[in-house]
Amino acid sequence: MAAAPFHLVTDFDGVWTEPEREARAVYAHLVTELARVSGRPAEAVWELVERHAARVRAHPDRFGWPIEGVFTSYVDEDYFAFPAAVGRSIEEEREPEAAALHACVRREFPNMGAFLDHCYHSTGDRFRAEVRHDLAAGAERVLAWLLEQGMAVTFVTNAPLVKVVDWFGVNGVAVADARDPAHAAAPLRAYGRAGKQWLGDTSQALDCAGRLVRTDRPQYREILERERPEVVLGDVLSLDLAQPLALRAQRRPGAPAFVGLLRRAHTPRWVLDSVGPAAAQIDFAVHHVTQLPRVLSTLRASSSPVTG
Ligand SMILES: [Mg+2]
Repeated sequence: MAAAPFHLVTDFDGVWTEPEREARAVYAHLVTELARVSGRPAEAVWELVERHAARVRAHPDRFGWPIEGVFTSYVDEDYFAFPAAVGRSIEEEREPEAAALHACVRREFPNMGAFLDHCYHSTGDRFRAEVRHDLAAGAERVLAWLLEQGMAVTFVTNAPLVKVVDWFGVNGVAVADARDPAHAAAPLRAYGRAGKQWLGDTSQALDCAGRLVRTDRPQYREILERERPEVVLGDVLSLDLAQPLALRAQRRPGAPAFVGLLRRAHTPRWVLDSVGPAAAQIDFAVHHVTQLPRVLSTLRASSSPVTG
């Protein structure tokens, strides 16, 4: 897409969607599944899970999405990490009730991580079968406007491709598979299951207002190097923005000129404080996708970052 006049690479969930309903469904399914594997009443399991949820909320820097012992995102920036963080809290806890629940999980699953993956993926599949879409209000009109202005838009998301295609499809907007070379020139494409969580061998990280965020994400980097976007947009700093910020700070191929945050009601202080003028800082924050036409028009017209 190097020939495109202005190219936006954007995350999907939490930027173009309202993810709370699906996140609540994953959380409820975690409770249901813990009750099932343990044979305990759902009310009792719910109480225990809520106690662990409070523990997670009280220590957000100690919980997140762990991969081989490293947090690829933190729980306070990433709503989809919350049920998994609660599961991890139960796994760590030594008091008898939590330990008994963990033992029941281990009878059916190799480890807590496999159980949590099962809860996440089975909820997502069922949720998409029941829900037409949870696009943010006006999302499809914003997308149509960006395309009318001659911009190219590429979704790079850990969600499955079918979710993006179906949710915009019911609104009459066709999204092409970015991995299919036949669609290389399409102005609206998506990479599903983009693997933004996978970390490389180095421990390269950014200090984001006191929180260390890992930046070596080879699968995401390879996509950025191929797409060469002008703007990267996302709602989870670690997953969506850390790698493009690092590329820009290191002046490497695939670095975008602009990096933007879609801030949500829960977005933590350390993420908001990572907006600033430095190459490794986020250039602008918007609170809703309907702000994009104004912001992207301004960015295209200017050669320097703006704060919106
Ligand atoms: Mg997101």
